[in-house]
Amino acid sequence: MNKNQLFRKIPKMDVLLVQDAVQKMIDVYGYDSVLEILRREQERVRLEIARCTTEEQAEECTEKLIQNAEKELHKLHRPHLKKVLNGTGTILHTNLGRAPIAQMLMKDAICEVGGYSNVEYDLEQGMRGNRGVAIEKLLCEITGAEAAVIVNNNAAAVLLVLNTLAKGGEVVVSRGELVEIGGHFRIPDVMELSGARLKEVGTTNKTFLSDYELAITEETKVLLKVHTSNYRIIGFTEMVKLEELCSLYEKYRLPVVEDLGSGALIDLNQYGLPGEPVVQESLKRGADVVCFSGDKLLGGPQAGIVVGKKCYIERMCSNPFYRAMRIDKLTAAVLERTLLEYRSESRAIKNIPVLRMMTRKPMDVEQDAKRLKRMLKRAGFAAEFELRSCESQIGGGSLPLTTIPSTAIAIVPEEIRVEELEQRLRSLPLPVIGRIEKGKLLLDIRTFEMEYASDFVKSLKEAHVFSRSPMKEADKK
Ligand SMILES: *Cc1c(COP(=O)(O)O)cnc(C)c1O
Repeated sequence: MNKNQLFRKIPKMDVLLVQDAVQKMIDVYGYDSVLEILRREQERVRLEIARCTTEEQAEECTEKLIQNAEKELHKLHRPHLKKVLNGTGTILHTNLGRAPIAQMLMKDAICEVGGYSNVEYDLEQGMRGNRGVAIEKLLCEITGAEAAVIVNNNAAAVLLVLNTLAKGGEVVVSRGELVEIGGHFRIPDVMELSGARLKEVGTTNKTFLSDYELAITEETKVLLKVHTSNYRIIGFTEMVKLEELCSLYEKYRLPVVEDLGSGALIDLNQYGLPGEPVVQESLKRGADVVCFSGDKLLGGPQAGIVVGKKCYIERMCSNPFYRAMRIDKLTAAVLERTLLEYRSESRAIKNIPVLRMMTRKPMDVEQDAKRLKRMLKRAGFAAEFELRSCESQIGGGSLPLTTIPSTAIAIVPEEIRVEELEQRLRSLPLPVIGRIEKGKLLLDIRTFEMEYASDFVKSLKEAHVFSRSPMKEADKK
């Protein structure tokens, strides 16, 4: 075999560039990208030919050059962030994007504000308007607060509140509330960053009103309460109630700030989900400023919401930090639409995915699980499928002690190991995240979006997920 002759068969760039297929690629991906990839493919083919033992193999490499270039380009232009199906049963799964947003709502929001919008334009006056006023008004209507301000997340909200109200002074907090939330949010660290000094009072399990009072000096600027979102101290405990702390206002004139973390806007007690404080309730009990996340129990986009007395909120809005932390138009559009659902509680429960998932009756979840099981059985996969009672979790640092009865599909593959199955599900074009328990792969149906059930079954077929031979790269897409 004459290698030099074969090398010469690799099409030159000027020949490649006039091919119809290449012209089409240039239209889609742009001239420079295509040129670069074709160069790389030529080089790759050269190396392959050097390794080939027969002429046919070598010629095949050359023929496939353009096809491979197209595949490479497709891969390079595919976004990394994509949809997954959540079979973990954790409703607010921080690694999977915390609160899922209803698709219709998201589409509507993007259509309305993706292009130009009145985000900072007053259509009535025909001049510059104030970003966020409409949402802030809506928040006041829903929570009964005097004023509101919205930033990127609750960590930013806490920082803004403390920096505005307590910079250079002291903030009194109970030792039982020095919370760490996942992702490096620690109250002492945020405090330091804000320029305020932390004054810890009480002990881990017991703090009394007198502990707060004894700690108050000329330097004290804020009394802070932090909701122990992701843990509970139980047993021999004593915590000061919000209203008791607020009763100190008469004497010391210090604002009481409460970081609620999750901040439900609906009392979830009535749905058998006790223990999450409601924003309206905190304000009624006398908190001067309350902050909470947009993407925990509220079920909206990532945001940090501060509500409370106008005199404090106004100071926050003129803090330069606010300019650096304010939300963008897409978040604003999604948050406003989410909050509009709260005009009616039954509508919120129905339309906000987080609330719908949390309040779905175990029987309804079981019905869906049965339906999916039937679809899986009918497809004739090499696996056993059975229903299994399980417990879903709220997650996102909310209701750490509460679980909700649910149903999972337990899958036992016949030809591959269960670990292999778990990994294959993760590499599907529409990845599915489950968990392994006692040799079975569990998909908790409470968090599984059933509208994707037939896509799921179809992709299991197309990728030969249950067959002994490994999934081909092409199947993974
Ligand atoms: C979750 C949480 C935060 C952080 O909120 P993000 O929106 O994730 O920034 C702060 N404080 C408490 C008490 C929380 O539960």
